[in-house]
Amino acid sequence: MVDHRTETELISDCVHCGFCLPACPTYRSWGAEADSPRGRIDLMKGLHEGAIELTDTVVAHFDRCLGCMGCVTACPSGVRYDLLIESTRAKIDAQHPREPADRGLREMIFALFPYPARLKVLAWPLFFYAKSGLQALVRASGVLALLPPRIAAMAKIAPPLSLADMRATLPPYTAARGTKRGTVALIAGCVQRVFFPNVNAATIRVLSAEGYDVIVPGDQGCCGALSLHVGRDGEAHAFARALVERFGDLDGIDAVIINAAGCGSTLKQYAELIEGDRAERFAAKVKDVSEFLADVGSVAERRPLPMRVAYHDACHLAHAQRIRQAPRTLLAGIPGLEIVEIPDADQCCGSAGVYNLLEPAAAAEIGARKAANVASTRPDVLASANPGCTLQIQSILADKGCKVVTAHPVELLDAALR
Ligand code: SF4
Ligand code: SF4
Repeated sequence: MVDHRTETELISDCVHCGFCLPACPTYRSWGAEADSPRGRIDLMKGLHEGAIELTDTVVAHFDRCLGCMGCVTACPSGVRYDLLIESTRAKIDAQHPREPADRGLREMIFALFPYPARLKVLAWPLFFYAKSGLQALVRASGVLALLPPRIAAMAKIAPPLSLADMRATLPPYTAARGTKRGTVALIAGCVQRVFFPNVNAATIRVLSAEGYDVIVPGDQGCCGALSLHVGRDGEAHAFARALVERFGDLDGIDAVIINAAGCGSTLKQYAELIEGDRAERFAAKVKDVSEFLADVGSVAERRPLPMRVAYHDACHLAHAQRIRQAPRTLLAGIPGLEIVEIPDADQCCGSAGVYNLLEPAAAAEIGARKAANVASTRPDVLASANPGCTLQIQSILADKGCKVVTAHPVELLDAALR
């Protein structure tokens, strides 16, 4: 719990008005009160007062929550559902024994995803899986439908990697081009670093073109976001402490830049998650790349990119960090680029960290709504500021035989600057 108020006080903020219900993807899917924010808060109250127990059924209602924070921005009473679900998940993790298969999958995910070096090892078989044509064959054959849903979800979501992706490395230092305006440090991310190295490369080029020296501290570990979002608090705090130490005192650094929305919201919480001046200084300097670039304004000349771009609001950018305008401002600054708004833009795509691996059926249902909305805009490119969203929407559209080019907004900006 990262708030000075007690859980009872946070729960009592809810006045049961129900304004959050239409904003909640799981309530929209099933119309069940216990799968709505209000219903889940009632369950939390029951648990807190000892009126109910952490049974499998109760835990399932919390497991089915995406943690998308759509309810947080929809709530007129300012209920901190984000803090409540975090503390509830930590409680579940500490107190509720899970089935061996469920436990095994979770352990496997968390032995892999927060470790870029291990992900890199996994990336090679994925590269050959995609390159050999086996991935397309498996998708087309329908064999995935015969596999256990969680295994099928992993096989589906596997990103197509190129040899250049596999060989990509990040320069520890890149000098500003033109007149220097400052110095920033880049968080490389885990999934971003291994599966979307182009996004980091584009981020560095754009920052340099805008007059910033870019430092990428080596041996960066995970930021702890994935662990925090499923209640593995101890692990999340250890990752956070190690990352803050790795970045040091940040003397002479104007901002710590992150280009993955899910990581950014956790990095901004560090001052509350872990103690110490360094953590406070670090958190205060964290900026999403779009937020930073929109704040400092552009100096580099943009060339035209005539294309229709559907911009997808990642939940951890729009709801958790309340950043909606900055990426749109950056894209709108590219001559010839037309931004098209996706209907029902506030709804989650179903990716939600590792939700689409742990709750594949719910994620597929929620993702199908998002994919249909994206397809309805007939974009040339889908732009998303979170790697999980990109993989999720791309995979669902591919299932429907609809290929869409995806890019991080910073990659489009990079293309316009080159
Ligand atoms: S969480 Fe907010 S919007 Fe939802 S029922 Fe409670 S007070 Fe109303
Ligand atoms: S975080 Fe998202 S899924 Fe969970 S209760 Fe809120 S709106 Fe619903």
